[in-house]
This record gives sequence, structure tokens and C-alpha cells, in this order.
Amino acid sequence: MRAIVLGGGLMGSATAFFLARRGVAVRLVERGYIGAGATVASFGNIRRTGRHLPQLPLAHRALALWNRAEALLGRDVEFRPTGHLRLIFDAGSRRDMERFAEAARPWGLEIEALAPGEIRRRFPGLGPSAIAASFSPEDGSANPRLVGPAFADAAARAGAEIVQGAGVPLVTTANGGFRVETEQGDFEADVLVNCAGAWGKTLAAQFGEDVPLSTHGPQMGVTEPLPHRILPVVGMWSQDAGAYLRQVERGNVVFGGGVPRVPVDDSGFARIDSARFAPQLEKIVRLCPALRDVAVIRQWSGCEGYVADDLPVMGPSRTTPGLFHAFGFCGHGFQLGPGVGDAMAELVETGRCETPLEPFGIERFAA
Ligand SMILES: Cc1cc2nc3c(=O)[nH]c(=O)nc-3n(C[C@H](O)[C@H](O)[C@H](O)COP(=O)(O)OP(=O)(O)OC[C@H]3O[C@@H](n4cnc5c(N)ncnc54)[C@H](O)[C@@H]3O)c2cc1C
Repeated sequence: MRAIVLGGGLMGSATAFFLARRGVAVRLVERGYIGAGATVASFGNIRRTGRHLPQLPLAHRALALWNRAEALLGRDVEFRPTGHLRLIFDAGSRRDMERFAEAARPWGLEIEALAPGEIRRRFPGLGPSAIAASFSPEDGSANPRLVGPAFADAAARAGAEIVQGAGVPLVTTANGGFRVETEQGDFEADVLVNCAGAWGKTLAAQFGEDVPLSTHGPQMGVTEPLPHRILPVVGMWSQDAGAYLRQVERGNVVFGGGVPRVPVDDSGFARIDSARFAPQLEKIVRLCPALRDVAVIRQWSGCEGYVADDLPVMGPSRTTPGLFHAFGFCGHGFQLGPGVGDAMAELVETGRCETPLEPFGIERFAA
């Protein structure tokens, strides 16, 4: 079997890696640089709390792979299972947390509910006005700059060919398979995996499959380096836009959320909106008041594809044998990435997947 994976973000790089390990002849075709799309812009949160419940089996599969990432990839991608603390500031959000904790238990996710005294004792300085919190001890974070290239390099070592700077490839069907014409040459394959992220909708449409996907950019920022004091990833249960932060080992505090995401135009370049900066910082300071007087040294955003029902598109094409999709990860794909690559490789090579992917099938939009 010959496969082409189109799109070299985390999903495409991980899919190419796991396909190559299964002995499939695979080419990863990226129009720009590996990992430079939504993946590099990510906050890096490896969080299962708050996920759509049918996504938890895939999230568990992903977490098991994050735990083995260094051994699998031959490189430290800074996965740190520091735990995920999610603070609560109002009664409605506390009820949401309690409902989620109860419902997630049969899906294999146990989260601890913390009272204010416990938050102060275990996490001094975080959320002093919080009325409760949840804590998920096995979750954490990794470095979004490292992980895409690490998967692509490991895929190359396992036999994959990595093609970067391929322009916007023209994809047609040919000889019972697919032909991909690029600035770096033309390639044919029996199988095509659409991992084109926010642009996956365009490729799917070429094969008669419409997906209600829009592009938005979450707004991120990072502070100057500070003494390392914050161990867990810190988030917020909130009925509007919850904020989040984490401190990297070098000391900078990375933050995001707290304000609505900015729409991205057709160019795909996600700009930050300076009018949202002050309200965003207000929420961040609520999570950690010590950040009030700290300098923010950089802000950025990234173009992410959001599907109308807030679930990704994963699985075989409805119209075209040999075509598979894995795109539109709605702002929560970083955690899932290794699991998506492993599950897609299993599906492509064997025709089956032990992790249920039915809730994410593209046929849900057929009507
Ligand atoms: C600012 C921000 C913060 C985020 N924070 C988190 C977080 O903390 N936790 C979490 O779980 N998720 C987070 N996410 C979401 C997560 O980063 C994404 O869901 C994930 O990285 C998507 O990976 P991808 O490979 O599908 O897409 P991308 O990384 O965008 O990769 C798609 C690639 O396809 C290429 N491409 C597109 N069209 C073509 C074509 N026709 N031919 C060839 N190549 C093509 C693009 O150039 C791009 O490199 C965040 C996203 C953003 C933007």
C-alpha cells in the first residue's frame, strides 16, 4: 500500500509516523513547513477534563502515547504530566464540573473535586477567590514547537518521505488511486489522508463532501521569565470563555482564552485583537494574582478549523474509496494528536479501528 498524507501539522506528522511503523510506504506532503500551522501556535495543553465524552477513548489513547513520546520519537518534546487544575468562580460552573465528573467516570476519567481550603494548601497563590476546582493528576502539557518536527523526523527514520514547500498541491484521482501534483514533483498513491487542518474542508469539498467549518484564532500571550512556581496547567470552568495558563520550565507564563476567538480571513493569517488584551489579562490575573505586574513580551494567534458541532472530522470518506479525513480539531486537537495519528494509521492499514471513531464521521453532514 502507498499512502500520501496531506498536511504536515501534528495530525499529519503523527499519521505518517504510525503508518511508516506499520510498514506502509508513506509520503507526507506539506505546502509550507512541518508543524507551522495551528500546531505551533497551540497552548500545549494536554487536557481531558471538559471534553465531549465520546472523545475520551481517543484522548486516553493519546495520553498513553504522550507518556511514551520520548521513547517513541527519540527526543524530549517536553511532555510533563504535571496535572491539570481547573478553578471555579461561580455556582453554575461548579454544577457543570460536578455533572462532568460524574458523567466522565464510566468513560474512564477520574477527576478530583477540590474545596477552597485544599486549593490554598496544595496550590498556594492560585485562584485565591475560587470557590472550588477540579484536578486531573495525569494530564499536563508539551511543547507545541517541538512535537510536529519530532513526529516528522521519526517518520522519516521509519521510512516515510517528507515533502515540504509543496505549494498548494493539485489532487486528482488516477489509476484507481490519487495523484498529487506539487512544486516538488508529482506523486501517486492508493490512499490519501486529508490532514490539512483548517483547510481540510477545501480538500473534502473537492470530493463532494461539505463540512460546516469556520476558521478562528484563539488569542495567546507569554510573559517575561519568572521564578518557576506554577507546576500544573491552570484553567477555569466558566460558562463563557474560560482562561488558562501554564509556566514553562524556563519561567515564562504562557496564557490564552478568556475572550472570544478572532475570526480568520481567507489568507489564513490569524491576527490578535488588541482590544481583547485587557479583558483577557483580567481573567488571567484571577487565576494567578501574582501576574498582575508582570510584563507580557509576545502575543500571537493561529488559524484553527472549528466544525459547527465542535467535533473533528475523522474516518473514511463517504464518497471516495481510499480517501480518509482527520481535520477540524476545534481548538482541542493538540492533546489528541498522537492518538489521532495512531488511530488513523490503524484504520488505513487494517480497515478497522479499536477506538470508536463513529461520532466523528464525515457522513454526519450528509443530510
Ligand atoms: C492558538 C491555539 C491554541 C491551541 N491550544 C490548544 C491546546 O492547548 N490544547 C489542545 O488540545 N489544542 C489546542 N489547539 C488546537 C490544536 O493546536 C490543533 O487542533 C492541532 O494542532 C491541529 O493540528 P492539525 O495537524 O490538524 O493542523 P495544522 O497544525 O494547522 O496543520 C495542517 C497543515 O496542513 C497544511 N496544509 C493545508 N492545506 C494543505 C494542502 N492543500 N496541501 C498541503 N498542505 C496543506 C498547512 O500548511 C498546515 O501545516 C490550539 C490551537 C490554536 C490555534
